[in-house]
Parts: sequence; C-alpha cells; structure tokens
Amino acid sequence: MYFGKKNSEEPEIIMEDTIVYACGSADCNGWMRKDFASENYDCPMCGSQLVEEVRELPKIENEYNAFK
Ligand SMILES: [Zn+2]
Repeated sequence: MYFGKKNSEEPEIIMEDTIVYACGSADCNGWMRKDFASENYDCPMCGSQLVEEVRELPKIENEYNAFK
C-alpha cells in the first residue's frame, strides 16, 4: 500500500505588500515591519535612521494583537 506525504496541513504562505522601516545605512540591512515599530524608531542594529519602504513579505496573522 502506498502512503503519500501529508502536506495538507502545511500553511499556505500569502505574500502581501508590507510597509517596513528599513535602515538608511548602506552597510546595514536592518529593517522591521511598521506594525512592530514605534514612531521614530532607529535601527536596532546600528542606530541609523530608518526609511519607510514597501516590501513583499509573507502575510502574518495578527499574533501581535493576541498579546493585548
Ligand atoms: Zn542599521
């Protein structure tokens, strides 16, 4: 008897345009999702100013809000 791999429970990854704050330094690739950033946040890795940009990222459910 043949048993196939069970892939049915693998979560589907949905990509969506996400606003992020990316580090303005060319030598640093630090960034964070806007949803997780405070206002006027500096890069946690080098302290440079963060620049708002849009990236295509895997959609995440509102885990963040679950802690409220
Ligand atoms: Zn940085």
